[in-house]
Amino acid sequence: MMTRRTAWMGLAAAAAGLRGLLAANPAQAAQPAPAREVVHSEAEWRKLLAPAQFDVLRKAGTERPFSSPLDKEKRAGRYSCAGCGQLLFSSRAKFDSGTGWPSFYQPVAKDAVEEHTDRTFGIKRTEVLCHRCGGHLGHVFNDGPPPTGLRYCMNGVALSFAPDAA
Ligand SMILES: [Zn+2]
Repeated sequence: MMTRRTAWMGLAAAAAGLRGLLAANPAQAAQPAPAREVVHSEAEWRKLLAPAQFDVLRKAGTERPFSSPLDKEKRAGRYSCAGCGQLLFSSRAKFDSGTGWPSFYQPVAKDAVEEHTDRTFGIKRTEVLCHRCGGHLGHVFNDGPPPTGLRYCMNGVALSFAPDAA
């Protein structure tokens, strides 16, 4: 005769089996990669980008602080993705964070960028990607200025700046 306990264990085993089946299905196990408007193979990106841009945009590298001239850029203008040209930030949302990386309190539009939790080096951070090509741009932190309180800490090498016509 089946006791209540063994019945429960049977149910738990069945549930675990079901989870195993779901996990074995690659479509269920991994988050589906979002469809990109701009898609290139790694070899194509290597040809399209300068090595420093490739390292940041495609390999999630970080440029040396204070190395980008865009950190000190003060002119009015627009910052686009160096990989695909997607407009990302306006000079109006730029501020000097003192970190040595170009910093903004918001993107031009919520859907211009994509944000993902990143646990590299055991630190929980929010990675910021270009929505259009999936290129790594930097991270966003909660210690920015008003009105958003956000600090989009960007790699200058991942951006291209176009000053407004005077
Ligand atoms: Zn892009």
